[in-house]
Amino acid sequence: MAGGDDHERRPATRLVTSGRSGGFAGKVVNPPVWRASTHLYEDCADLNARKTRNEDGTFFYGRRGAPTQWALCEALTALEPGAAGTVLYPSGLAALVGALLAVLRSGDVLLVADNAYEPTRNAAMGLLKKFGIEHRFFDPLDHEAYQAAFCDRTRAVMLEVPGSLTMEVCDIPALARIARDKGAVSLLDNTWATSLGFPALERGCDIAITALTKHVGGHSDVMMGSASAGERWYRRLRLGAQQLGHVVSPDDAALVLRGLRTMGVRLNQQTDTALALAQWLDSRSEVAHVLSPLLPGTPDHALWQRDFNGGCGLFSFVLKGGDDAARCRLVDALELFGIGYSWGGFESLALPFDVEPVRSAMPWPKEGWGVEDRYAIRLSIGLEDKDDLIADLANGFAALNEG
Ligand SMILES: *Cc1c(COP(=O)(O)O)cnc(C)c1O
Repeated sequence: MAGGDDHERRPATRLVTSGRSGGFAGKVVNPPVWRASTHLYEDCADLNARKTRNEDGTFFYGRRGAPTQWALCEALTALEPGAAGTVLYPSGLAALVGALLAVLRSGDVLLVADNAYEPTRNAAMGLLKKFGIEHRFFDPLDHEAYQAAFCDRTRAVMLEVPGSLTMEVCDIPALARIARDKGAVSLLDNTWATSLGFPALERGCDIAITALTKHVGGHSDVMMGSASAGERWYRRLRLGAQQLGHVVSPDDAALVLRGLRTMGVRLNQQTDTALALAQWLDSRSEVAHVLSPLLPGTPDHALWQRDFNGGCGLFSFVLKGGDDAARCRLVDALELFGIGYSWGGFESLALPFDVEPVRSAMPWPKEGWGVEDRYAIRLSIGLEDKDDLIADLANGFAALNEG
């Protein structure tokens, strides 16, 4: 759904005002949940006229949405400067794969950042390969290797920042510029910062993808994804999603729209708490490395300060030596941190992870680290009190040390 002349106002205001201009503006605060498979036409002339008009905001059939979904699209487009429209998908992964299928064809080569989300890697190695699309993984911190990875058939580059699990911040404006110079379309998985924290199209990317399941939904009760782009790529995305039959339910769209209204304050709060916890973890003797762009004094932090308008509560840390059993003692002792996938909800989560199986171009442990520093844990910081979270982690370390 296109729209979004709302880009002049500041982002915090746009979170509140956008997606409310539909036919109900001024009557109710939120758009109604409009459940519809079938839209009724005035008469045969109306039916015939709309049959050929595949455009946003006109009724056709439920698969092309209704005002609830259109309101969410309009709000997301208003948040992404440079976007002509936004397409919704039933999950973040469906958005990533749907966008890749919309821009690639058999014989093309796709470059994938080595620290991309694991299911993105799997889609490149599985479904896309089956359709004759080749892939190469590259280290997004090594610009020379990246340039060398291009060939005549390279049509797209899949980027992500910070890197999944390991949290490296790469120079997106530089990587996107190189892709454009080489005639390739750049797609960014922007789930960590969202367009609020990282205006991806302004920074040079062609397609900005967000797993709305995380920060935008924000309450761990809904799954959805989106892709926003300027006019040219938006048209391609929209046709691709229509041909794949992607549609989201109006109830879910209303939930995501509700989450969006408070996303700014949640992210600010979670960023503050995450920084405090990252600093506390950095001071612990059991911790070898804290992996977070929020933490001052690293190259990741410098790039984050240069390119981003905000952060979030997601970061990782690596234990000094130890083994999987010690890591499990720590995680199992936590009471406020649930053990689970996903992130960006109001509640804190902890996830032990192993890096070797999901990298092919970036070393782990990282260069300069002790070879035994490999046991890592990702934290998603929720809205609990910071001191309670620190006390919970301190209990976890006591359990680790008891072993
Ligand atoms: C969770 C996640 C996705 C996928 O979102 P789903 O809604 O779970 O499919 C994509 N990218 C990143 C970085 C994620 O963390």
